[in-house]
Amino acid sequence: MGAASMSIPYHDYYETLGVSRDASTKEIKAAYRKLARKWHPDLHSGAKKAEAEEKFKQINEAYEVLSDPEKRSKYDRLGSHWREGQDFQPPPDMEGFRVYTTGADFGRSGFSDFFETLFGAQYAGKGSTPRARVRGEDVESEIELTLEEAYRGTSRSLQVAGGKACADCHGTGVRGRSFCPTCGGTGSVAETRTLQVNIPAGVHHGSRIRLKGQGYEGIGGGPRGDLFLKVRILPHPVFTVKGSDVEVQLTVEPDQAVLGDKVEVPTLDGPVVMTVPPGSRNGTRLRLQGKGLPRKDGTRGDQYVRLVIDIPRQVDEQQRALYEQLRRLRRG
Ligand SMILES: [Zn+2]
Repeated sequence: MGAASMSIPYHDYYETLGVSRDASTKEIKAAYRKLARKWHPDLHSGAKKAEAEEKFKQINEAYEVLSDPEKRSKYDRLGSHWREGQDFQPPPDMEGFRVYTTGADFGRSGFSDFFETLFGAQYAGKGSTPRARVRGEDVESEIELTLEEAYRGTSRSLQVAGGKACADCHGTGVRGRSFCPTCGGTGSVAETRTLQVNIPAGVHHGSRIRLKGQGYEGIGGGPRGDLFLKVRILPHPVFTVKGSDVEVQLTVEPDQAVLGDKVEVPTLDGPVVMTVPPGSRNGTRLRLQGKGLPRKDGTRGDQYVRLVIDIPRQVDEQQRALYEQLRRLRRG
């Protein structure tokens, strides 16, 4: 190896991964995973195997550069000095360039001369392909809670689909000089984990609970993604939930509605005694302040009690006599 001024073929990493030049890290990662699985050398045989090995190196090299913001930016700056179909000459105004030549496009390091020219040959001779540390993907899941569980909080054992580091390659995706066949070079394998999850009190329908570091395993030793649990509150036989307010229906007799009464009403905190004012009409909504669900600001919503006046289907003789007396009074 020595510093030399010679031309080497330019590698279009965006083209290799089939992504646009403004692709997000997520898009790059998705493209890499797909291609890594497709071109895994162990999935090919015969003449196709050599092609797969070559492709695989190119894919990994492209990913190594584009998944690393620093390398990507350096690579992107180079773009202005390069025109399609031309070999790459290190621009004289870019500092720190040395051309390493190994005779073949891909040297012992598993990286191309192009890569080593751009990023240095510090990876050469390590015996394995260095990989970018990439944070694992987030996992979304749903959790069904009763209203009481959402209100008081609960603990749940959950089965969560995710990924863990491949044991055969310790999450590096590489074994020896080749790519790990167990995980297809991605460094992670699928797994289902059982998690004990504490649901805090006061979650709402649609709340997202974040469990840090419980998502997919990262690539190349990167941190795990997060697990997001979306709360679904199951319908309740007594309480109807509207935001942070709850509503119950309360059936009262005609005399209670006319004369008023003290009645027992269920709340999330247990039964309370409430006053039905005299002259209450069917459908009247009475408010129990602060008896609803907790709000984000620490206050609580309200409970509404909707009165339903129950007209008796049958009356006994004494009741009938009294209703007839009421009628005579009304008619004057
Ligand atoms: Zn593996």
